Amino acid sequence: MNAVINNIEVIKTKTSKIHDVDFEHLSFGSTFSDHMLECDFKDGKWQAPKVVPYHSITLDPSAKIFHYGQSIFEGMKAYKDANNDVYLFRPIDNCKRLNISAKRLAIPEVPENYFMEGLKTLLKVDSDWIPKNEGCSLYIRPFIFATGNGFHASPSNEYKFIIATAPSGSYFAGKVKVLIEETYSRSANGGVGFAKAGGNYAGQFYPTQLAIEKGYQQVIWTDDNTHEYIEEAGAMNIFIRINDTLITGPTSDRILDGITRKSVIDIAKAEGISVEIRKIKVHEVVAAARNGTLREMFGAGTAAVISPISGFGYHGEDFDIPEQSKPYAGFLKKRITDIQTNKCEDPFGWRFKVE
Ligand SMILES: *Cc1c(COP(=O)(O)O)cnc(C)c1O
Repeated sequence: MNAVINNIEVIKTKTSKIHDVDFEHLSFGSTFSDHMLECDFKDGKWQAPKVVPYHSITLDPSAKIFHYGQSIFEGMKAYKDANNDVYLFRPIDNCKRLNISAKRLAIPEVPENYFMEGLKTLLKVDSDWIPKNEGCSLYIRPFIFATGNGFHASPSNEYKFIIATAPSGSYFAGKVKVLIEETYSRSANGGVGFAKAGGNYAGQFYPTQLAIEKGYQQVIWTDDNTHEYIEEAGAMNIFIRINDTLITGPTSDRILDGITRKSVIDIAKAEGISVEIRKIKVHEVVAAARNGTLREMFGAGTAAVISPISGFGYHGEDFDIPEQSKPYAGFLKKRITDIQTNKCEDPFGWRFKVE
């Protein structure tokens, strides 16, 4: 869906914060660029998007976001190559997924050209905020939330769509130890697990806290019905390598259709790695850990790209995954980030030059 759009209005900040930022020591997602894209839905339609100075937002206490949680988001990154050219990675997929999430949460869909032209304009205005250092990127957070007022439990009639950005270093350092969840669920059949809805994360925090108290860093989500099948790793898709086969679950109501996940699948296949997209039982992974055929587990998502797992806990027992001399995780991460940052050919057509 597109809508008529002329030039996007840009209102520049008078006081840039860029000189306060230490680009050599960036953390993840905690420093924000000078500008943001802002677009309001009112009177039954999305108004013209604008690039404006990054600013706080005032809402009425009855704003529906606070009470009924109509809130969705995306996560993506922009990169600068050696020539200062700026690239996104499969951005149309993020736009399409934002609208898939919007539909499920009864939020009006954003016209694709508002998203894409708005984002490109924002990146041009804040181009100096895109880090060039190895492993760094400009993390991009598009999100929509309900701004309409009233305690009546019904969809809001007003919304705000924002794209804010944050120059960022790498997300995690090192491998994580995970706990396979046997009680709580991230998502359910017919639910909103396939959407990037804010509430999905709220529901993950408490079980994750419990896992952290037990000495793990992250939860491996299993199916809500039986807890017998492995589904996701925290807020990432999960890959399991048994012998030389890479296995990941099929997307569904419960498993989010990650862009990193599908890129990993395509790269692995192109490299001749055997990939199976099928349901995978916890018992199969435990058996593989016991007989030595479990060689790797890793999460896949935009923020960390690939997050290797060093071992897992299940039913009171801990299992270590032995270090591999040539892990798929490292190889796949390098292939993806080389494509993203224009360090190699892009046979898949995923790289998107911002111009
Ligand atoms: C965002 C997200 C992912 C990863 O998606 P990418 O498009 O690869 O960033 C995976 N699982 C969940 C639950 C997510 O919210």
